[in-house]
Amino acid sequence: MNRIPVPGILKDLSRIFSDAGHTLYLVGGAVRDIYLCRSGGDWDVATEASPERVMQLFRHVIPTGIAHGTVTIRFKDALIECTTFRTETGYSDGRRPDEIQYAATIEDDLSRRDFTMNAIAVSLPEGTVIDPFGGREDIKAGIIRTVGSAAERFGEDGLRPLRAVRFSAQLGFTLEAATLEAIRPSLGVTALVAKERVRDELSKLLSSPIPSTGLRFMERTGLLELVLPELAACRGVEQKGLHRFDVLDHLFLACDAAPEKSLELRLAALFHDIGKPEVRETDSLGLYTFHHHEAVSAKIAERVLTGLRYPQKTVRTVVHLVAQHMFHYEPVWSDAAVRRFIVRVGKEHIPALFDLRRADGWAIAGVRGEPLHLAEFSDRIDSILSKEHAFSLKDLAVNGKDLLAAGIPPGPGTGLILKELFEAVLDDPELNRKDRLMEIALAFYARMEDLKGDVSRR
Ligand code: ATP
Ligand code: MG
Repeated sequence: MNRIPVPGILKDLSRIFSDAGHTLYLVGGAVRDIYLCRSGGDWDVATEASPERVMQLFRHVIPTGIAHGTVTIRFKDALIECTTFRTETGYSDGRRPDEIQYAATIEDDLSRRDFTMNAIAVSLPEGTVIDPFGGREDIKAGIIRTVGSAAERFGEDGLRPLRAVRFSAQLGFTLEAATLEAIRPSLGVTALVAKERVRDELSKLLSSPIPSTGLRFMERTGLLELVLPELAACRGVEQKGLHRFDVLDHLFLACDAAPEKSLELRLAALFHDIGKPEVRETDSLGLYTFHHHEAVSAKIAERVLTGLRYPQKTVRTVVHLVAQHMFHYEPVWSDAAVRRFIVRVGKEHIPALFDLRRADGWAIAGVRGEPLHLAEFSDRIDSILSKEHAFSLKDLAVNGKDLLAAGIPPGPGTGLILKELFEAVLDDPELNRKDRLMEIALAFYARMEDLKGDVSRR
């Protein structure tokens, strides 16, 4: 296929370039996706026109990466990344080219791109394909291969190995042998990549259909040890009982089994047992124990995610899910016990925690199935949530002001009384009425005052 059909919007865009005497090519992920019969991604285009020239040609242009020759054109409601042809020279820090050199031809521009599958251009508006490195064949074979010497390309830019493993997970591709082998010797360069960029690649990898494809390549190449050493340390940590896998394979499998749409869940699944190597002991029967591994795992997850500059909200949610993942339910639980569980976990986190439990259960032996009593527990929670509304101090029928109006002075005692009321309501939701709660509050206050009197008399 040496010519492909071109969407109307790109034809219109390219006309503006050609009227001004410039050429335009579709490049990057969008071209790759055409051959993969996928759609979605953004449009990336390339031209020999300078960024300044592009900014003159369009009314709405954002200088997103002008230092590297990239601007974003807003055109007919689409955001199109436009990069001026360039070659790159000198990467003394392994992160960014020291200087940019603009190139004259699309072929020169394609030769600085990372992988053959990403080094295909389509001329606009005709749709003629330019594929100097055999990218189409590699796409057909499902292979990720650097353009030119892998050692050189990875030595120039430490992000590329991470992009390679991320693409392997996103596309289900394998790494060509020389490309794979060149990653380990260039880990020193990858170590220099900014944490935010590492995080973004990891997030894309984890949000792909089967993240373990990429994670296994990370392990084989040493990237896992570099980026997530605590996870790499889970290899060979055997478990017991129904567990069929060591801790690392269990975590990889749990990550695959967690819903793809939630990055937080994927992260929680990947880290939920990360503390096990630290706490493993052997009991008197010679069996392994992992006491309090959820708390240690939560601590490690917090350190790792913060180090990777994940937003605080993501860190908090993942850490909470990891810390709570060992919850245990029995059908004999009273409604009050179910209510206390809801309060401890937070109702907004329960669906995710249950998804994590399903993923964890699946990854014990690689067998899919609903964990014991989980559906029943879920029904009981739903039914309680649909009936009652006091799941935090805010939901109580009285507040500090009501206590003050009844003659209870503000102070630390107020908090104690409200907590006592909340406990009472968890035991019996019927009590969540102002008259009943005030009765309890006044009685509790009187007891507190008596106690104070006793102490001062002594
Ligand atoms: P996606 O947008 O799905 O992440 P993509 O291939 O479009 O995939 P972008 O980051 O949008 O990736 O980059 C667009 C193109 O720029 C790539 O296809 C590749 O040709 C080139 N490119 C991006 N990053 C690098 C890099 N670190 N080294 C060399 N070329 C790169
Ligand atoms: Mg892109």
